[in-house]
Amino acid sequence: MSNPTAPRIWQLAERRYRLIGVECQKCKKRYIGPRKICPNCGSRDLKDVLLSRRGKIYSYTVVRVPPRGRENYGPYIIAIIELEDGCRLTAEIVDCSPDDVEIGKEVELVFRKIGEENEAGVLYYGYKFRLAGK
Ligand SMILES: [Zn+2]
Repeated sequence: MSNPTAPRIWQLAERRYRLIGVECQKCKKRYIGPRKICPNCGSRDLKDVLLSRRGKIYSYTVVRVPPRGRENYGPYIIAIIELEDGCRLTAEIVDCSPDDVEIGKEVELVFRKIGEENEAGVLYYGYKFRLAGK
């Protein structure tokens, strides 16, 4: 009947986009995304875990010519992030200029609107990272 309130939508988005991985119960290595067998030790005893929301920049690139659909977006930063867990993922770094970004700098997970659906007015959120601290 009624539309969910904004905080409710936010809650749903956050639940949906938190970083979930698996941890090997034998060697304690963590991986992003579903797996059945640990690539490190071959164990099948893997459990879902929430991954760390902090990490550091492993490498990055500045995209100065945005792809189609993002023409107005300007230069943006795509980085490989190494989480405190040891997992690596690729994500955008937001809230800073390309000059502020350096390999090894600490970053933290944030949720950002990544698109909007016109008819239903549904907002899409995704994970991105920003420089941590300060
Ligand atoms: Zn293992």
